[in-house]
Amino acid sequence: MTSRAAKPLAAAAIAQLEADGVATLIGTVVNPAGLTHAKTVPLRRMGAFADPGLGASPVFHVFAIDQTGIVFGDAIGVVGDQRIRIDLGALRILGDGLCWAPGAFFNQDGSPDPYCSRGTLSRVSDRITEAGIDTVVGHEMEFVLVGPDGSELPSHLWAQYGLAGVLEFEGFVRDVTNAATNSGITIEQFHPEYGRNQFEISLSPQPPVAAADALVMTRIIIGRVARKYGLRVSLSPVPFAGSVGSGSHQHFSMKRDDVPLFSGGSGAAGMTPEGESAVAGLLAGLPEAQGILCGSVLSGLRMQPGHWSGAHVCWGTENREAAVRFLIGGPSNPQGANVEVKIIDPSANPYLATAAMLGLAFDGIERELTAPPEVTVDPDSLTDAERDKGEIRLLARDQAEAIDMLDQSALLRGILGDEPVDAVVAVRRYEQQNYGDLTPEELAEKFRLAWSV
Ligand code: GLU
Ligand code: MG
Repeated sequence: MTSRAAKPLAAAAIAQLEADGVATLIGTVVNPAGLTHAKTVPLRRMGAFADPGLGASPVFHVFAIDQTGIVFGDAIGVVGDQRIRIDLGALRILGDGLCWAPGAFFNQDGSPDPYCSRGTLSRVSDRITEAGIDTVVGHEMEFVLVGPDGSELPSHLWAQYGLAGVLEFEGFVRDVTNAATNSGITIEQFHPEYGRNQFEISLSPQPPVAAADALVMTRIIIGRVARKYGLRVSLSPVPFAGSVGSGSHQHFSMKRDDVPLFSGGSGAAGMTPEGESAVAGLLAGLPEAQGILCGSVLSGLRMQPGHWSGAHVCWGTENREAAVRFLIGGPSNPQGANVEVKIIDPSANPYLATAAMLGLAFDGIERELTAPPEVTVDPDSLTDAERDKGEIRLLARDQAEAIDMLDQSALLRGILGDEPVDAVVAVRRYEQQNYGDLTPEELAEKFRLAWSV
């Protein structure tokens, strides 16, 4: 469906980009296995990339993390062609003659492709907006710097959250910060994390689709800058077996008629009744959503108590061992009270992860669910009887179990649609079937750079 107005607009945008020195446009899509795919065009083809889009086989949705696998099924095979259309409204300049825009999948008749993760998030977030609720999402990204072949870098100078990490990688930190600023990405903070050569970047909250786009853009920025220094970025949830994992936590807050749901209320931790229901909806659905949020063959290695990954399904104010951490608002927290889902890891498709997270929260609101009491201690320190009483369970560490739960989940199928769920189940089962027998060491080694860009 070509819009006549799009053409002159594109022409004006091309002229502006040319004046800014841009010659090449990169468009990306992220698939259900969390892989980022790209096509590039010379700038003059920008309008065509936006509409009608560039051709792509439906198998993009089932490319596996081992560099070669394609998980053919009844619905996705060698026949068919779709269009990747970039969103010109989300275009950003990368520098060095490059610009970038996020893409979404469409069928050739112009209808949205139900497998598309960005399209799925748009649908879920529109549904919530239409119900009168405004949502913003803030991403945290943890990653580990490694050598070009994925090898571990020296860490003689490294302390948890240490200044040494900033100074050892001063050029990387500076150039990422500059590139983000120049591209209009708003970093809230950037610091060495707990693990050796592990860093974290937090991004400012934005509406859901724009927030996920910014995460993809930031991955491109850190990937490009790392290369300049002869480094690579591991986006594996477990870059080194037996070591600290990397999360990709997502925070969100909601407002109805400009009134926050997570503060100013009379409920637990100052939540409104709808805020509490949102938390309850999340807790009720997390085990079924695990396959979407942290479903890769490596993810189970991270999902254990004591790793600050939120292995226990419970919520608590500032509780870093709870799957759902509640952050209170107030003068120390200018972004306001919000909810963090800690179990999400960087192997997940960020668009689908946000769609699942917000969809569950909204489901809780619609069904007026009641949240269990908050957990104010490390849930691992409780007795089994105390955990039973508080309805606190552990998430599956067996990924096959998590994927089966997702496959059978009417809830997640209702929120996301059958197609994205089927595609995630297909690629994650493939990982289990082909690599499920590897040792943690072999798994971490094999897939250390699988999600890197
Ligand atoms: N690295 C931890 C994870 O795997 C998170 C640490 C933190 O709380 O920031 O999720
Ligand atoms: Mg962190």
